[in-house]
Amino acid sequence: DRALVWFRRDLRADDHAALYAALRAARQVWCAFVFDDEILAPLPRADRRVEFIRDSLVDLDDQLHSLGLSHGVQPVRLIVRHGQARALLPQLAAQLGVQAVFASHDDEPASLARDNQVRGELAAQGVSLYTSKDHVVFERAEVMTATGTPYSVFTPYKNAWLKKLTPFFVKAWPVARHAGALAPWPAELGEPGVPELHDIGFERTDLHQMRLPSGSSGAHELLADFLARIDAYDRARDFPAVKGPSYLGPHLRFGTVSIRHLAREAWQRMQAGSRGAEVWLSELIWRDFYHQILHHHPRVDGHAFKPEYDRIKWAHGKEADALFEAWCEGRTGYPLVDAAMLQLSRTGYMHNRLRMVTASFLVKDLGLDWRRGEAWFARWLNDFDLAANNGGWQWAASTGCDAQPYFRIFNPVSQSEKFDPEGKFIKRYLPQLAALSAKAIHAPWQALPLELAAAEVTLGENYPLPVVSHDEAREATLARFAAARGGP
Ligand code: FAD
Repeated sequence: DRALVWFRRDLRADDHAALYAALRAARQVWCAFVFDDEILAPLPRADRRVEFIRDSLVDLDDQLHSLGLSHGVQPVRLIVRHGQARALLPQLAAQLGVQAVFASHDDEPASLARDNQVRGELAAQGVSLYTSKDHVVFERAEVMTATGTPYSVFTPYKNAWLKKLTPFFVKAWPVARHAGALAPWPAELGEPGVPELHDIGFERTDLHQMRLPSGSSGAHELLADFLARIDAYDRARDFPAVKGPSYLGPHLRFGTVSIRHLAREAWQRMQAGSRGAEVWLSELIWRDFYHQILHHHPRVDGHAFKPEYDRIKWAHGKEADALFEAWCEGRTGYPLVDAAMLQLSRTGYMHNRLRMVTASFLVKDLGLDWRRGEAWFARWLNDFDLAANNGGWQWAASTGCDAQPYFRIFNPVSQSEKFDPEGKFIKRYLPQLAALSAKAIHAPWQALPLELAAAEVTLGENYPLPVVSHDEAREATLARFAAARGGP
């Protein structure tokens, strides 16, 4: 009758499947989070995501405390540990004398391996590990083709997904109703409290200047702001200078908001006729889609979904490395690409349209292996998620399931003209181009020398010349893909 809930990428106390299951199953329930050194060790010491998690834990601790208070149990506090989850979790279970540990599914290959090990250790102590769906609306093999195989094309998947959706699947788990089973803080664990960043070896970042409020309270703030403009999402979402999307990515990543809640909000509005809500729901379905792809094809982590494209000979060597650096640092000479890459490193966010443009540019203009770009995004994105990032990269690289066909190659200049017509977004990150006209800003090397001089732009000095010619790169890319496909 004692249970422990192990929080991972589900940092909230409302509408929480595992917490609900534990509260129903046991009379005394503790809640814990482990800062896992296996995940933290490779990260830079200042990482916005670690700070986001830390701050979200403070919020979660408050929520649990209030839930306890409302049922006359106190003090209910979150147990936070730092070290190796594989070792600490079984230790904690033994210390608390629980019979069961509850957690949410995490289908990333490394997480599954960790969970299997923890499951084994717990079993040796006579403790069960129960895991359940929380992170997506439909997971694993819940949406399959009529012949029982996984979908690899989005549109039929989406249709099947929508067909399967009933209010049951987006209903909230009523945690608060059963919160009387939360157990007070066990004195033998010492003092409660969420550690400071420096206690776990990290430094503060500029997260607080990012307009990215953390925790469930932050998620609800962003959601309220977004729902007021969701009807315009379909029209606004493609323009990086416009406040079109929800900016909820990191909240979905760390589970500070329930996907069921978001899907419910979107679905209701869609049924009431909102085109914006319909398109947004479709984006949430892309998220489920890539999660089930990773579940059914874990090899996509590191390999092309379409195996023939593992034969592609990507550019390598010193010159390729220099091009990669120029891309990372926003020095390619293509203003939209450069502004986007600066947005990524300076804020941890990059607009979806720009993720497509910069990813395509890396692969099809620079001829570089998509995995290099994937890793760079993984390093910087606040909302980095293996399934979605890998899916997005393989889509742009044409190596993925239902990807952009290889011969469709974004032109970085026309993308810029179309989606940032006045160069408003570009100027935010490249102030040295601020005086260029809306016509010249997308391709400054084509501008009249007189205009460049008047705008005080000296190519090669205060802004780079293009590192590649798009037309030549296009030909090289077609040849590269043709060779891998076994002929022109
Ligand atoms: P909104 O437009 O408000 O969308 C709401 C939510 O839907 C997002 O937060 C996200 O959870 C989901 N979503 C939206 N579009 C997609 C999509 N195409 N695929 C999967 N889920 C989607 N998304 C990530 O969450 N993590 C990543 O690491 C990631 N890497 C990407 C890499 C590339 C190369 C590309 C092309 C896309 C990537 N995306 C990734 C998808 C998408 O760009 C982001 O989800 C979105 O820009 C996040 O901003 P938002 O929360 O304001 O999105």
